[in-house]
Amino acid sequence: MGRFVWAAALGIGAALAGSAALAQGGSQGFDVQAATQAYLDSLPAEARARSDAYFEGGYWLILWGLLWTLGACWLLLGTGLSARLRDRAERVTKARFVQVFLYAAGLILALTVQTLPWSIYTDFVREHQYGLSTQSFGAWAGEQAIGTALSLVITSLIVAVIYAVVRRSPRRWWLWGTGVAMVFLVVGIAISPVFIAPIFNDYKPLAEGPLRDRILSMARANGVPAEEVYMVDASRQTNRVSANVSGLFGTTRVSLNDNLLNRGTPEEVAAVMGHEIGHYALGHIDEALLKLGAVILAGFAFVHWAFPRVANGFGRGWGIRGVADPAGAPLALALFSLWFTLMTPVTNTITRSNEIEADIFGLNAAREPDAFATIALKLAEYRKLDPGPLEEFLFYTHPSGRNRIEMAMRWKAEHMREQAPVVGEAGKP
Ligand SMILES: [Zn+2]
Repeated sequence: MGRFVWAAALGIGAALAGSAALAQGGSQGFDVQAATQAYLDSLPAEARARSDAYFEGGYWLILWGLLWTLGACWLLLGTGLSARLRDRAERVTKARFVQVFLYAAGLILALTVQTLPWSIYTDFVREHQYGLSTQSFGAWAGEQAIGTALSLVITSLIVAVIYAVVRRSPRRWWLWGTGVAMVFLVVGIAISPVFIAPIFNDYKPLAEGPLRDRILSMARANGVPAEEVYMVDASRQTNRVSANVSGLFGTTRVSLNDNLLNRGTPEEVAAVMGHEIGHYALGHIDEALLKLGAVILAGFAFVHWAFPRVANGFGRGWGIRGVADPAGAPLALALFSLWFTLMTPVTNTITRSNEIEADIFGLNAAREPDAFATIALKLAEYRKLDPGPLEEFLFYTHPSGRNRIEMAMRWKAEHMREQAPVVGEAGKP
């Protein structure tokens, strides 16, 4: 029933967009603003209020999440737990590298326990409150446990390697440390479609048919050597409509989730896949990695600068022997978390600017501006549709629904001018 009302609303919206365009007069006069507004108005007020509340609540979660992390780190330092954990690791072995690995594993366990109520609320309870999660508590907890187990091995290893760098180069560790972090990041991105993602979801090649043919044809036409499109059973966890590009080197792949396939029209799927092919063709993963590397470098430099100041100023009882002592890891983590929270608008803008490029690429590749607009409305289930400009700059990893629809309508208007109606009902004379 809900889906029917939804589809009807979209249909009315498209019709309104068409009549609004005609009302503005003539083939020249497709009114981009009116068409955009008609799509925006087609979203039921109740659905819009819910997604606004969900997304705006997320702004505060950034702040509370940081405070929770800072509190957890302060507790570990202030109670001397961090220093005791280090002492215990030192009693187990003389090998520094292994000491740090063991310490890091203990720290990850402690942090997991401390942040468990927060994770349960933000990842499980709240997602259910807004009807976005499809998981039982058992399934959710199981995935969390797997994630923690992976982190115990992988994150502990990364921490041990970085501390080895700090011991060797106490003055320049932030520079070499960035190099180490980038190597792990690159390896992580490259292996994740093959080794990590399949732990949580099934990836299957999309069934043969006109839709698959269309996507692969679009990929070939844009120089993307894709032989398969993957479908991921994201409905196991969420109701969100989504798709993505993942991997690096030989493992790069384009995947669409089953929610998109089940709820989207073939035109909408093509519009989204045009966008994803854009990420691939424009080399966005490499570009984002380089830019993110600069933020990480600055973050390590910030930790290098702030660590001794905070440790000497407040940390007399913490039992930290210096920056190379793993017992100070909660302080380094707190500073790094503070840095990345402050950098939120920067990292968001790094991704958002690529998303805008991929949107334009996708419009040109798929030539489905109306389907792009209706899919933007579906994405508005979990992203506020029409924010202010400052709000979008600060908090949006993707362009807002309003901007995406406007982009699509502008594309449509310009292409109506150069030839007879390209696509879509609203374009018919
Ligand atoms: Zn994207």
